[in-house]
Amino acid sequence: MDRLINFSAGPAMLPTEILAQAQLELLDWQGRGYSILEANHRGSEFGELFARIKQDFRRIAAIPDDYQVLFLLAPARAHFAAIPLNLSQPEQTADYLVMGLWSQLAAVEAKKYLSVQCADSAQTWRVNPASAYAYITDNETVQGIQLHDVPDTQVPLVCDMTSSLLTRPIDVRRYGMFFAGVQKNIAPVGLSLVIIREDLLDRARTVTPSVLDYGLQAQHGSLLNTNNNFSIYMTGLMLEWIDDQGGLDVLWVRNQEKAQRLYAFIDAHDYYTNHVPAPLRSCLNVVFDLNTPQHEAFLVEARAAGMIGLNGHRSVGGMRVSLYNAVSLTHVDALIAFMKDFAERRG
Ligand SMILES: *Cc1c(COP(=O)(O)O)cnc(C)c1O
Repeated sequence: MDRLINFSAGPAMLPTEILAQAQLELLDWQGRGYSILEANHRGSEFGELFARIKQDFRRIAAIPDDYQVLFLLAPARAHFAAIPLNLSQPEQTADYLVMGLWSQLAAVEAKKYLSVQCADSAQTWRVNPASAYAYITDNETVQGIQLHDVPDTQVPLVCDMTSSLLTRPIDVRRYGMFFAGVQKNIAPVGLSLVIIREDLLDRARTVTPSVLDYGLQAQHGSLLNTNNNFSIYMTGLMLEWIDDQGGLDVLWVRNQEKAQRLYAFIDAHDYYTNHVPAPLRSCLNVVFDLNTPQHEAFLVEARAAGMIGLNGHRSVGGMRVSLYNAVSLTHVDALIAFMKDFAERRG
């Protein structure tokens, strides 16, 4: 069977090897006589798997001992509200660096719970030392913008890594907390990961919903509620895949190489334009415009050539190529060959 190359921003392409293994085990999970989809989330068999996956994550992402890792059945956006509820009191302030859609939505949500100050450039960002926390989105999935340097803040730094977690090594100590929905680089939708320093677990407001109370979930090993067995299991397969690739250092070299090839092609061709200033260009989501109004034709012909998911986000238009972990250099070369051919015929 020929699989299409899926450049979608999420839910996103997963490595074929992982899907094949899940298929192989779906009816009978490793000889146990039942499916992972039917596993009791409090049973010892799932418990062993979950414990191993937590350990693998900690090892691969180099999480220090004084940070908790939570696996929560919540979308990334649930944390836009959970963060102010867990980390601040109503009379406090928080500082948000707003460089794209996701940080903007996070700031709007946070304003329901505390007073929020926004800045739009990392260079001029001045974080109030009295703020409860400072907030960034290191990769703006919609605008194709990536913050390549972590800002220095005196207050705990919170980062939305939904489209970047497990694409590169992380200097965990720079953050008080970071989080990600898994549906971009890691697993099927239905799970988010929260990595939080333990000293930040004692400040949740009493009105915080229990399932989103990070301290309470930490005490319960992320099993206060029924969790998403399948997304957790798939995350485990992805962690094994990352080990097989050689770890996050190797993935990051490859992810940068993929982006460089595509940007170099776009910059060399008048027919395609990327408007993001070079130091802010994302390695994970490459946006571009065509210089003729042939948007639909581009998508239709790309699909005929075996490539989907290239449409830009509805709020910005244009095209977007998501170069997540499962996208290989070969896939990028296939896209570049298609773009070259399209420009020659239609440009
Ligand atoms: C996709 C995305 C989200 C939203 O994820 P949901 O799980 O749909 O809430 C939030 N932040 C970033 C950076 C994203 O890329």
